[in-house]
Amino acid sequence: MPDRRPRVVIVGAGFGGIEAARALKRAPADVTVIDKQNHHCFQPLLYQVATAALSPADVAWPIRRILRRQKNATVLMAEVRGIDTDKRIVRTDSVEVGYDFLVLATGATHSYFGHDEWAEAAPGLKRIEDGTRIRRRILIAFERAELTADAAARRRLLTFVIVGAGATGVEMAGAIAEVARQTLARDFRRIDPRTARIVLVEAGPRVMPTLPENLSDYVRATLTRKGVEVMTSARVTNCDTRGVDLEQGRIDAATIIWAAGVVASPAAQWLGAAHDRAGRITVGPDLSVPGHPEIFAIGDTAAAAGPNGRPVPGIAPAAKQMGRYVGDLIAARLAGAAGPPPFRYHHQGDLATVGRQSAVVKFGRLELTGFIGWLFWCVVHIFFLVEVRDRFMVAFIWLWDYLTFQRGARLITEVRPDDPR
Ligand SMILES: Cc1cc2nc3c(=O)[nH]c(=O)nc-3n(C[C@H](O)[C@H](O)[C@H](O)COP(=O)(O)OP(=O)(O)OC[C@H]3O[C@@H](n4cnc5c(N)ncnc54)[C@H](O)[C@@H]3O)c2cc1C
Repeated sequence: MPDRRPRVVIVGAGFGGIEAARALKRAPADVTVIDKQNHHCFQPLLYQVATAALSPADVAWPIRRILRRQKNATVLMAEVRGIDTDKRIVRTDSVEVGYDFLVLATGATHSYFGHDEWAEAAPGLKRIEDGTRIRRRILIAFERAELTADAAARRRLLTFVIVGAGATGVEMAGAIAEVARQTLARDFRRIDPRTARIVLVEAGPRVMPTLPENLSDYVRATLTRKGVEVMTSARVTNCDTRGVDLEQGRIDAATIIWAAGVVASPAAQWLGAAHDRAGRITVGPDLSVPGHPEIFAIGDTAAAAGPNGRPVPGIAPAAKQMGRYVGDLIAARLAGAAGPPPFRYHHQGDLATVGRQSAVVKFGRLELTGFIGWLFWCVVHIFFLVEVRDRFMVAFIWLWDYLTFQRGARLITEVRPDDPR
Protein backbone atom coordinates (compact mmCIF):
# COMPACT_ATOMS: atom_id res chain seq x y z
CA MET A 1 0.00 0.00 0.00
CA PRO A 2 1.48 3.43 -0.92
CA ASP A 3 2.46 5.99 1.72
CA ARG A 4 -0.98 7.57 2.12
CA ARG A 5 -4.37 6.59 3.46
CA PRO A 6 -5.94 3.85 1.41
CA ARG A 7 -8.77 5.01 -0.85
CA VAL A 8 -12.05 3.13 -0.93
CA VAL A 9 -14.45 4.23 -3.66
CA ILE A 10 -18.09 3.19 -3.48
CA VAL A 11 -20.17 3.78 -6.60
CA GLY A 12 -23.89 4.01 -5.80
CA ALA A 13 -25.51 5.22 -2.59
CA GLY A 14 -28.47 2.87 -2.60
CA PHE A 15 -29.10 0.27 0.08
CA GLY A 16 -25.85 -1.59 -0.61
CA GLY A 17 -23.54 1.40 -1.04
CA ILE A 18 -24.72 3.25 2.08
CA GLU A 19 -24.34 0.12 4.19
CA ALA A 20 -20.80 -0.50 2.86
CA ALA A 21 -19.84 3.11 3.64
CA ARG A 22 -21.22 2.85 7.17
CA ALA A 23 -19.33 -0.39 7.79
CA LEU A 24 -16.11 1.50 6.98
CA LYS A 25 -16.84 4.25 9.50
CA ARG A 26 -13.88 3.41 11.73
CA ALA A 27 -11.56 2.15 9.01
CA PRO A 28 -8.28 4.05 8.49
CA ALA A 29 -9.24 4.91 4.92
CA ASP A 30 -10.64 7.73 2.82
CA VAL A 31 -14.06 6.61 1.63
CA THR A 32 -15.52 8.31 -1.44
CA VAL A 33 -19.16 7.66 -2.27
CA ILE A 34 -20.12 8.57 -5.85
CA ASP A 35 -23.73 8.75 -6.97
CA LYS A 36 -25.32 10.39 -9.98
CA GLN A 37 -28.15 11.58 -7.74
CA ASN A 38 -27.81 13.68 -4.61
CA HIS A 39 -30.25 11.50 -2.69
CA HIS A 40 -30.74 7.97 -1.45
CA CYS A 41 -34.17 6.69 -2.42
CA PHE A 42 -36.20 4.25 -0.32
CA GLN A 43 -37.59 2.36 -3.31
CA PRO A 44 -40.01 0.11 -1.38
CA LEU A 45 -42.22 3.17 -0.74
CA LEU A 46 -41.90 4.76 -4.18
CA TYR A 47 -45.28 3.39 -5.23
CA GLN A 48 -46.80 5.60 -2.50
CA VAL A 49 -45.28 8.64 -4.21
CA ALA A 50 -46.63 7.40 -7.55
CA THR A 51 -50.12 7.07 -6.04
CA ALA A 52 -50.09 10.40 -4.20
CA ALA A 53 -49.94 9.05 -0.64
CA LEU A 54 -46.44 10.30 0.20
CA SER A 55 -44.34 13.19 -1.08
CA PRO A 56 -40.88 12.63 -2.58
CA ALA A 57 -39.12 14.08 0.46
CA ASP A 58 -40.80 11.43 2.67
CA VAL A 59 -38.94 8.62 0.89
CA ALA A 60 -35.59 10.14 -0.14
CA TRP A 61 -32.78 11.82 1.77
CA PRO A 62 -29.65 13.73 0.69
CA ILE A 63 -26.70 11.34 0.71
CA ARG A 64 -24.54 14.07 2.26
CA ARG A 65 -26.94 14.28 5.18
CA ILE A 66 -26.93 10.52 5.74
CA LEU A 67 -23.13 10.45 5.88
CA ARG A 68 -22.58 13.84 7.48
CA ARG A 69 -21.26 12.41 10.75
CA GLN A 70 -18.89 10.00 9.04
CA LYS A 71 -15.70 12.04 8.95
CA ASN A 72 -13.77 9.68 6.64
CA ALA A 73 -16.51 9.77 3.96
CA THR A 74 -16.70 12.22 1.05
CA VAL A 75 -19.75 12.36 -1.22
CA LEU A 76 -19.43 13.22 -4.92
CA MET A 77 -22.42 13.75 -7.16
CA ALA A 78 -21.21 12.46 -10.53
CA GLU A 79 -22.21 9.82 -13.05
CA VAL A 80 -19.71 7.02 -13.48
CA ARG A 81 -19.01 6.24 -17.12
CA GLY A 82 -16.18 3.70 -16.93
CA ILE A 83 -13.35 2.16 -14.93
CA ASP A 84 -9.67 1.86 -15.79
CA THR A 85 -8.73 -1.25 -13.85
CA ASP A 86 -5.01 -1.00 -14.79
CA LYS A 87 -4.62 2.56 -13.47
CA ARG A 88 -7.28 1.98 -10.79
CA ILE A 89 -9.29 5.03 -11.76
CA VAL A 90 -13.06 5.57 -11.84
CA ARG A 91 -14.05 7.85 -14.72
CA THR A 92 -17.12 10.01 -14.24
CA ASP A 93 -18.84 12.65 -16.34
CA SER A 94 -16.80 15.29 -14.50
CA VAL A 95 -13.80 13.98 -12.52
CA GLU A 96 -11.53 10.96 -12.26
CA VAL A 97 -11.22 9.28 -8.88
CA GLY A 98 -8.41 6.88 -7.96
CA TYR A 99 -9.07 3.84 -5.79
CA ASP A 100 -7.32 1.06 -3.90
CA PHE A 101 -10.60 -0.74 -3.23
CA LEU A 102 -13.68 -0.30 -5.36
CA VAL A 103 -17.25 -1.27 -4.47
CA LEU A 104 -19.79 -1.26 -7.29
CA ALA A 105 -23.32 -0.81 -5.95
CA THR A 106 -25.08 0.72 -8.94
CA GLY A 107 -28.30 -1.27 -8.74
CA ALA A 108 -30.63 -2.18 -11.59
CA THR A 109 -33.24 -0.60 -13.82
CA HIS A 110 -36.34 -1.75 -15.74
CA SER A 111 -36.02 -4.21 -18.56
CA TYR A 112 -38.41 -4.01 -21.50
CA PHE A 113 -37.19 -7.37 -22.79
CA GLY A 114 -35.55 -5.84 -25.87
CA HIS A 115 -38.35 -3.32 -26.47
CA ASP A 116 -36.90 -0.11 -25.06
CA GLU A 117 -39.25 1.80 -27.36
CA TRP A 118 -42.06 0.89 -24.92
CA ALA A 119 -40.43 2.93 -22.14
CA GLU A 120 -42.02 6.24 -23.12
CA ALA A 121 -45.55 4.82 -23.13
CA ALA A 122 -45.04 2.55 -20.13
CA PRO A 123 -42.73 4.16 -17.56
CA GLY A 124 -41.29 2.02 -14.81
CA LEU A 125 -40.82 2.94 -11.17
CA LYS A 126 -37.25 3.26 -9.98
CA ARG A 127 -36.33 6.83 -9.17
CA ILE A 128 -38.15 9.74 -7.54
CA GLU A 129 -38.70 11.28 -11.00
CA ASP A 130 -40.48 8.07 -12.06
CA GLY A 131 -42.75 8.28 -9.03
CA THR A 132 -43.74 11.89 -9.71
CA ARG A 133 -44.14 11.22 -13.46
CA ILE A 134 -46.49 8.29 -12.83
CA ARG A 135 -48.40 10.29 -10.23
CA ARG A 136 -48.84 13.11 -12.74
CA ARG A 137 -50.06 10.72 -15.42
CA ILE A 138 -52.59 9.07 -13.11
CA LEU A 139 -54.01 12.37 -11.87
CA ILE A 140 -54.07 13.94 -15.35
CA ALA A 141 -55.92 10.91 -16.74
CA PHE A 142 -58.80 11.61 -14.33
CA GLU A 143 -58.70 15.35 -15.11
CA ARG A 144 -58.86 14.77 -18.88
CA ALA A 145 -61.60 12.19 -18.49
CA GLU A 146 -63.64 14.86 -16.72
CA LEU A 147 -63.08 17.19 -19.69
CA THR A 148 -63.97 14.94 -22.60
CA ALA A 149 -67.45 14.32 -23.95
CA ASP A 150 -66.29 11.36 -26.06
CA ALA A 151 -67.29 8.12 -24.32
CA ALA A 152 -64.53 6.00 -25.91
CA ALA A 153 -61.85 8.55 -24.98
CA ARG A 154 -63.19 8.71 -21.44
CA ARG A 155 -63.07 4.93 -21.19
CA ARG A 156 -59.46 4.89 -22.38
CA LEU A 157 -58.50 7.68 -19.99
CA LEU A 158 -60.05 5.78 -17.10
CA THR A 159 -58.20 2.56 -17.93
CA PHE A 160 -54.94 1.88 -16.11
CA VAL A 161 -52.78 -1.10 -17.03
CA ILE A 162 -49.99 -2.30 -14.79
CA VAL A 163 -47.64 -4.79 -16.43
CA GLY A 164 -46.00 -7.28 -14.06
CA ALA A 165 -47.53 -8.79 -10.92
CA GLY A 166 -44.50 -8.86 -8.65
CA ALA A 167 -44.63 -6.88 -5.40
CA THR A 168 -44.42 -3.47 -7.13
CA GLY A 169 -47.14 -4.26 -9.68
CA VAL A 170 -49.44 -5.62 -6.99
CA GLU A 171 -48.86 -2.61 -4.73
CA MET A 172 -49.43 -0.18 -7.60
CA ALA A 173 -52.63 -1.90 -8.75
CA GLY A 174 -54.08 -2.03 -5.22
CA ALA A 175 -53.23 1.62 -4.57
CA ILE A 176 -54.63 2.91 -7.90
CA ALA A 177 -57.85 0.99 -7.25
CA GLU A 178 -58.17 2.77 -3.91
CA VAL A 179 -57.41 6.16 -5.43
CA ALA A 180 -60.24 5.59 -7.93
CA ARG A 181 -62.78 3.88 -5.65
CA GLN A 182 -62.22 5.90 -2.50
CA THR A 183 -59.93 8.94 -2.59
CA LEU A 184 -61.35 10.50 -5.76
CA ALA A 185 -64.80 8.95 -5.58
CA ARG A 186 -66.64 12.18 -4.70
CA ASP A 187 -64.31 14.78 -6.22
CA PHE A 188 -65.54 14.82 -9.82
CA ARG A 189 -68.89 15.85 -11.29
CA ARG A 190 -68.96 14.57 -14.88
CA ILE A 191 -67.20 11.25 -14.35
CA ASP A 192 -67.48 8.62 -11.69
CA PRO A 193 -63.87 7.69 -10.81
CA ARG A 194 -65.18 4.43 -9.33
CA THR A 195 -65.83 3.19 -12.86
CA ALA A 196 -62.10 3.26 -13.63
CA ARG A 197 -60.74 0.00 -14.99
CA ILE A 198 -57.50 -1.18 -13.38
CA VAL A 199 -55.89 -4.16 -15.08
CA LEU A 200 -52.91 -6.05 -13.71
CA VAL A 201 -51.26 -8.07 -16.47
CA GLU A 202 -48.85 -10.91 -15.71
CA ALA A 203 -47.08 -13.18 -18.21
CA GLY A 204 -46.65 -15.98 -15.65
CA PRO A 205 -49.41 -18.18 -14.26
CA ARG A 206 -49.80 -16.40 -10.90
CA VAL A 207 -49.28 -13.14 -9.07
CA MET A 208 -46.29 -12.69 -6.76
CA PRO A 209 -44.70 -15.98 -7.80
CA THR A 210 -42.04 -15.83 -5.07
CA LEU A 211 -44.75 -16.38 -2.45
CA PRO A 212 -46.23 -19.78 -1.64
CA GLU A 213 -49.34 -20.58 -3.66
CA ASN A 214 -51.83 -19.96 -0.84
CA LEU A 215 -50.52 -16.42 -0.29
CA SER A 216 -50.39 -15.76 -4.01
CA ASP A 217 -54.06 -16.82 -4.22
CA TYR A 218 -54.85 -14.54 -1.30
CA VAL A 219 -53.25 -11.58 -3.08
CA ARG A 220 -55.22 -12.27 -6.24
CA ALA A 221 -58.51 -12.58 -4.37
CA THR A 222 -57.84 -9.36 -2.44
CA LEU A 223 -57.01 -7.43 -5.60
CA THR A 224 -60.14 -8.72 -7.29
CA ARG A 225 -62.23 -7.66 -4.30
CA LYS A 226 -60.73 -4.18 -4.57
CA GLY A 227 -61.82 -3.99 -8.19
CA VAL A 228 -58.58 -4.88 -9.98
CA GLU A 229 -58.85 -7.16 -13.04
CA VAL A 230 -56.03 -9.66 -12.76
CA MET A 231 -54.92 -11.26 -16.04
CA THR A 232 -52.34 -14.02 -15.67
CA SER A 233 -50.61 -15.98 -18.47
CA ALA A 234 -51.04 -12.78 -20.50
CA ARG A 235 -47.95 -11.69 -22.39
CA VAL A 236 -47.57 -8.11 -23.63
CA THR A 237 -46.65 -7.91 -27.32
CA ASN A 238 -46.71 -4.13 -27.74
CA CYS A 239 -47.19 -0.91 -25.76
CA ASP A 240 -47.99 2.50 -27.18
CA THR A 241 -49.42 5.74 -25.84
CA ARG A 242 -52.97 4.57 -26.50
CA GLY A 243 -52.86 1.07 -25.08
CA VAL A 244 -51.37 -2.38 -24.69
CA ASP A 245 -51.47 -5.37 -27.03
CA LEU A 246 -51.63 -8.77 -25.39
CA GLU A 247 -51.63 -12.19 -26.99
CA GLN A 248 -55.30 -12.22 -25.93
CA GLY A 249 -56.16 -8.88 -27.61
CA ARG A 250 -55.81 -5.15 -27.09
CA ILE A 251 -56.61 -3.00 -24.08
CA ASP A 252 -57.07 0.70 -24.83
CA ALA A 253 -55.49 2.57 -21.95
CA ALA A 254 -54.06 6.05 -21.46
CA THR A 255 -51.90 5.07 -18.49
CA ILE A 256 -49.55 2.09 -18.58
CA ILE A 257 -47.10 1.33 -15.80
CA TRP A 258 -44.23 -1.08 -16.30
CA ALA A 259 -43.43 -3.29 -13.31
CA ALA A 260 -41.97 -6.30 -15.12
CA GLY A 261 -38.35 -7.31 -15.37
CA VAL A 262 -35.15 -5.68 -14.29
CA VAL A 263 -31.71 -5.38 -15.84
CA ALA A 264 -28.54 -4.57 -13.93
CA SER A 265 -26.56 -1.34 -14.31
CA PRO A 266 -23.79 -1.42 -16.93
CA ALA A 267 -21.12 -2.09 -14.26
CA ALA A 268 -20.22 -5.45 -15.86
CA GLN A 269 -19.47 -3.63 -19.12
CA TRP A 270 -17.22 -1.10 -17.36
CA LEU A 271 -15.06 -4.01 -16.21
CA GLY A 272 -15.54 -6.39 -19.13
CA ALA A 273 -16.57 -8.86 -16.42
CA ALA A 274 -18.60 -12.08 -16.72
CA HIS A 275 -22.31 -11.53 -16.04
CA ASP A 276 -25.62 -13.36 -16.00
CA ARG A 277 -28.54 -12.83 -18.38
CA ALA A 278 -29.77 -9.83 -16.40
CA GLY A 279 -26.34 -8.19 -16.75
CA ARG A 280 -25.37 -8.76 -13.10
CA ILE A 281 -21.65 -9.24 -12.44
CA THR A 282 -20.86 -12.82 -11.45
CA VAL A 283 -19.02 -12.46 -8.15
CA GLY A 284 -16.95 -14.89 -6.10
CA PRO A 285 -17.74 -16.16 -2.57
CA ASP A 286 -16.33 -12.93 -1.05
CA LEU A 287 -18.32 -10.80 -3.55
CA SER A 288 -15.13 -9.78 -5.38
CA VAL A 289 -14.99 -9.69 -9.15
CA PRO A 290 -12.96 -12.67 -10.43
CA GLY A 291 -9.40 -11.56 -11.30
CA HIS A 292 -9.82 -8.34 -9.26
CA PRO A 293 -9.57 -9.00 -5.51
CA GLU A 294 -9.74 -5.21 -4.95
CA ILE A 295 -13.08 -4.76 -6.77
CA PHE A 296 -16.44 -5.87 -5.33
CA ALA A 297 -19.96 -5.84 -6.71
CA ILE A 298 -22.97 -5.86 -4.39
CA GLY A 299 -26.75 -5.55 -4.40
CA ASP A 300 -28.84 -5.61 -7.55
CA THR A 301 -25.82 -5.30 -9.81
CA ALA A 302 -24.21 -8.52 -8.49
CA ALA A 303 -25.06 -12.15 -9.21
CA ALA A 304 -24.08 -13.93 -5.99
CA ALA A 305 -24.83 -17.51 -5.04
CA GLY A 306 -27.26 -17.78 -2.14
CA PRO A 307 -28.31 -20.71 0.02
CA ASN A 308 -29.15 -23.93 -1.88
CA GLY A 309 -27.27 -22.56 -4.91
CA ARG A 310 -30.15 -20.21 -5.72
CA PRO A 311 -29.11 -16.64 -6.59
CA VAL A 312 -29.36 -13.98 -3.92
CA PRO A 313 -32.59 -12.06 -4.69
CA GLY A 314 -32.63 -8.42 -5.80
CA ILE A 315 -34.14 -6.97 -2.65
CA ALA A 316 -33.10 -4.32 -0.16
CA PRO A 317 -32.09 -6.60 2.75
CA ALA A 318 -29.82 -8.60 0.41
CA ALA A 319 -28.11 -5.40 -0.82
CA LYS A 320 -27.64 -4.26 2.78
CA GLN A 321 -26.19 -7.59 3.87
CA MET A 322 -23.74 -7.53 0.96
CA GLY A 323 -22.79 -3.91 1.70
CA ARG A 324 -22.05 -4.66 5.33
CA TYR A 325 -20.09 -7.79 4.41
CA VAL A 326 -17.86 -6.00 1.89
CA GLY A 327 -17.34 -3.02 4.20
CA ASP A 328 -16.26 -5.37 7.02
CA LEU A 329 -14.04 -7.34 4.65
CA ILE A 330 -12.22 -4.22 3.41
CA ALA A 331 -11.84 -2.94 6.98
CA ALA A 332 -10.35 -6.31 8.00
CA ARG A 333 -7.92 -6.27 5.09
CA LEU A 334 -6.84 -2.73 5.94
CA ALA A 335 -6.19 -3.88 9.51
CA GLY A 336 -4.13 -6.80 8.21
CA ALA A 337 -6.60 -9.24 9.75
CA ALA A 338 -8.16 -12.30 8.17
CA GLY A 339 -11.36 -11.34 6.41
CA PRO A 340 -14.77 -12.78 7.27
CA PRO A 341 -15.75 -16.22 5.92
CA PRO A 342 -17.51 -16.34 2.52
CA PHE A 343 -20.69 -14.27 2.22
CA ARG A 344 -23.84 -16.03 3.40
CA TYR A 345 -27.19 -14.51 2.57
CA HIS A 346 -29.93 -14.77 5.23
CA HIS A 347 -33.39 -14.45 3.77
CA GLN A 348 -35.55 -12.58 6.27
CA GLY A 349 -38.87 -12.83 4.48
CA ASP A 350 -41.23 -11.48 1.85
CA LEU A 351 -43.90 -8.86 2.28
CA ALA A 352 -46.15 -6.66 0.16
CA THR A 353 -49.25 -4.55 0.67
CA VAL A 354 -52.43 -5.03 -1.30
CA GLY A 355 -53.99 -1.66 -0.66
CA ARG A 356 -54.78 0.18 2.52
CA GLN A 357 -55.67 -2.51 4.97
CA SER A 358 -54.22 -5.65 3.58
CA ALA A 359 -50.77 -7.16 3.20
CA VAL A 360 -49.08 -10.51 2.89
CA VAL A 361 -46.12 -11.37 5.08
CA LYS A 362 -44.00 -14.51 4.97
CA PHE A 363 -41.20 -14.61 7.51
CA GLY A 364 -39.95 -18.18 7.87
CA ARG A 365 -42.94 -20.12 9.08
CA LEU A 366 -44.84 -16.98 10.02
CA GLU A 367 -47.53 -16.11 7.50
CA LEU A 368 -49.71 -13.05 8.04
CA THR A 369 -52.43 -11.64 5.83
CA GLY A 370 -55.10 -8.92 6.03
CA PHE A 371 -55.08 -6.13 8.57
CA ILE A 372 -52.51 -7.76 10.89
CA GLY A 373 -50.21 -8.25 7.90
CA TRP A 374 -50.72 -4.62 6.94
CA LEU A 375 -49.83 -3.40 10.45
CA PHE A 376 -46.71 -5.57 10.39
CA TRP A 377 -45.80 -4.13 6.96
CA CYS A 378 -46.25 -0.56 8.26
CA VAL A 379 -44.06 -1.15 11.30
CA VAL A 380 -41.27 -2.77 9.25
CA HIS A 381 -41.22 0.05 6.71
CA ILE A 382 -41.39 2.81 9.29
CA PHE A 383 -38.50 1.19 11.16
CA PHE A 384 -36.28 1.26 8.08
CA LEU A 385 -36.88 4.90 7.16
CA VAL A 386 -33.65 6.82 7.50
CA GLU A 387 -34.71 9.93 9.39
CA VAL A 388 -36.50 9.83 12.72
CA ARG A 389 -38.59 12.84 11.65
CA ASP A 390 -39.80 10.89 8.61
CA ARG A 391 -40.79 7.92 10.75
CA PHE A 392 -43.18 10.15 12.69
CA MET A 393 -44.37 11.97 9.56
CA VAL A 394 -45.02 8.81 7.56
CA ALA A 395 -46.72 7.08 10.52
CA PHE A 396 -48.98 10.10 10.89
CA ILE A 397 -49.73 10.29 7.13
CA TRP A 398 -50.61 6.59 7.02
CA LEU A 399 -52.86 6.90 10.06
CA TRP A 400 -54.60 9.91 8.48
CA ASP A 401 -54.89 8.10 5.18
CA TYR A 402 -56.29 5.06 6.95
CA LEU A 403 -58.92 7.08 8.82
CA THR A 404 -59.95 9.41 5.99
CA PHE A 405 -59.06 7.68 2.69
CA GLN A 406 -57.28 10.91 1.74
CA ARG A 407 -54.03 11.08 -0.12
CA GLY A 408 -52.27 14.33 0.61
CA ALA A 409 -49.81 14.51 -2.29
CA ARG A 410 -52.31 14.96 -5.15
CA LEU A 411 -50.61 17.93 -6.78
CA ILE A 412 -50.08 18.21 -10.52
CA THR A 413 -47.16 20.60 -10.85
CA GLU A 414 -46.59 20.38 -14.59
CA VAL A 415 -48.27 19.05 -17.71
CA ARG A 416 -46.24 17.48 -20.50
CA PRO A 417 -47.04 16.62 -24.11
CA ASP A 418 -46.69 12.88 -23.37
CA ASP A 419 -49.29 12.94 -20.58
CA PRO A 420 -52.54 10.98 -21.09
CA ARG A 421 -54.95 12.56 -23.57
C1 LIG B 1 -40.41 0.26 -7.06
C2 LIG B 1 -39.55 -0.68 -6.28
C3 LIG B 1 -40.07 -1.27 -5.14
C4 LIG B 1 -39.28 -2.13 -4.40
N1 LIG B 1 -39.81 -2.70 -3.26
C5 LIG B 1 -39.01 -3.46 -2.49
C6 LIG B 1 -39.51 -3.97 -1.25
O1 LIG B 1 -40.68 -3.74 -0.89
N2 LIG B 1 -38.67 -4.70 -0.47
C7 LIG B 1 -37.37 -4.94 -0.86
O2 LIG B 1 -36.62 -5.57 -0.11
N3 LIG B 1 -36.89 -4.50 -2.03
C8 LIG B 1 -37.66 -3.76 -2.85
N4 LIG B 1 -37.18 -3.28 -4.04
C9 LIG B 1 -35.83 -3.67 -4.46
C10 LIG B 1 -34.78 -2.85 -3.74
O3 LIG B 1 -35.12 -1.48 -3.76
C11 LIG B 1 -33.44 -3.09 -4.41
O4 LIG B 1 -33.15 -4.46 -4.32
C12 LIG B 1 -32.35 -2.28 -3.74
O5 LIG B 1 -32.59 -0.92 -3.91
C13 LIG B 1 -30.99 -2.65 -4.31
O6 LIG B 1 -30.02 -1.88 -3.68
P1 LIG B 1 -28.71 -1.46 -4.46
O7 LIG B 1 -27.85 -0.76 -3.47
O8 LIG B 1 -28.15 -2.63 -5.16
O9 LIG B 1 -29.18 -0.47 -5.60
P2 LIG B 1 -30.04 0.86 -5.52
O10 LIG B 1 -30.70 1.01 -4.20
O11 LIG B 1 -30.87 0.86 -6.74
O12 LIG B 1 -28.95 2.01 -5.63
C14 LIG B 1 -28.15 2.19 -6.76
C15 LIG B 1 -27.55 3.57 -6.70
O13 LIG B 1 -26.56 3.66 -7.71
C16 LIG B 1 -26.65 4.91 -8.34
N5 LIG B 1 -26.09 4.79 -9.67
C17 LIG B 1 -26.52 3.96 -10.67
N6 LIG B 1 -25.74 4.09 -11.75
C18 LIG B 1 -24.80 5.02 -11.44
C19 LIG B 1 -23.72 5.60 -12.16
N7 LIG B 1 -23.43 5.26 -13.42
N8 LIG B 1 -22.97 6.53 -11.54
C20 LIG B 1 -23.23 6.91 -10.26
N9 LIG B 1 -24.24 6.40 -9.55
C21 LIG B 1 -25.02 5.46 -10.12
C22 LIG B 1 -28.14 5.23 -8.33
O14 LIG B 1 -28.36 6.63 -8.45
C23 LIG B 1 -28.57 4.67 -6.98
O15 LIG B 1 -28.51 5.65 -5.96
C24 LIG B 1 -37.95 -2.43 -4.81
C25 LIG B 1 -37.44 -1.83 -5.96
C26 LIG B 1 -38.23 -0.96 -6.69
C27 LIG B 1 -37.66 -0.32 -7.94
